[in-house]
Amino acid sequence: MYCPYCHTDNSRVMESRTSEDGTTIRRRRECVNEACQRRFTTYERVEQRPLMVIKKDAKREEFSYDKLYRGVMKACEKRPISTEQVERVVEGIAQRLRIDFEQEVPSSIIGELVMDALRELDGVAYVRFASVYREFRDVETLAKEVLSLLTETSDKGSA
Ligand SMILES: [Zn+2]
Repeated sequence: MYCPYCHTDNSRVMESRTSEDGTTIRRRRECVNEACQRRFTTYERVEQRPLMVIKKDAKREEFSYDKLYRGVMKACEKRPISTEQVERVVEGIAQRLRIDFEQEVPSSIIGELVMDALRELDGVAYVRFASVYREFRDVETLAKEVLSLLTETSDKGSA
């Protein structure tokens, strides 16, 4: 497996872990190039029929794990959130979609799942994602969302 950083075409498997439902094997790898030695993750899955995402305009698009990953990663940019945490969020959502939806899933469901997960993880990442996803029409809607989040956070803190 080639290194995504320096493109050396060999890497060493450090650790392999099978997901709870047994459908995925996650491997931590390390680049064998001594000047690089960076670590990255690969996933091995059973090939399944593609899950189609129904978009708002009713067009279908094949579900993309990478696209979901990039979306979550973008929301988490410059936040104290590790790559591992992002992977866990995305893996959890992908797993849930595979179980609950066999062939088609509305994009709105995926958006809601991401928002739920980010809400738990990081307030800023959540608001970022929600502001793009929900296309907040005005500052007022956004402010309301932020306010409800702050209230929740302080509730959590006092409990
Ligand atoms: Zn490398």
